[in-house]
Amino acid sequence: MLSSRFKHYNEIDVVYVCPYCRNKDPFIADKFFGLTAHVKRIHVKNNDCKCPVCGATFRSPLGLHRHFEAMNDADHLTAKFFYGLNQHRNSRLKQMLRTIAYSNTKTYVRRWITLKCPNCNIVTFFMRIKRLIYRCKKCGYTIEIPLSEVKVI
Ligand SMILES: [Zn+2]
Ligand SMILES: [Zn+2]
Ligand SMILES: [Zn+2]
Repeated sequence: MLSSRFKHYNEIDVVYVCPYCRNKDPFIADKFFGLTAHVKRIHVKNNDCKCPVCGATFRSPLGLHRHFEAMNDADHLTAKFFYGLNQHRNSRLKQMLRTIAYSNTKTYVRRWITLKCPNCNIVTFFMRIKRLIYRCKKCGYTIEIPLSEVKVI
């Protein structure tokens, strides 16, 4: 049995991970609306009529719209929500797309990790404070941890 001191060890937090950041350091948001803002600002704005999911390219935005219309998997429905192609739809459908995008980007991460603190120089507990930034419980030193190391499968 875990001592009461470590009772929070298995607690998990929720973050939202950008599905379109290609690098190893994907954008992480604490709130879903933060992710939506990021996708609109970075990916939708820079879109050159290319599907962010499968890479198919089109000559006009209309081609991309039609492509999204034809696809019904979760990743394309998520893109349909983020890319604002639901603007003229009824609110029920908008809400459905939002729900799909929400659950498709929702990711569980550990609230607590153990790590050798570079400042304390001992293995101790770190708690997540925001995004993937964790803080040493002993000295307050903060460090960003890669998603792969804190993601709960
Ligand atoms: Zn991104
Ligand atoms: Zn596609
Ligand atoms: Zn420390």
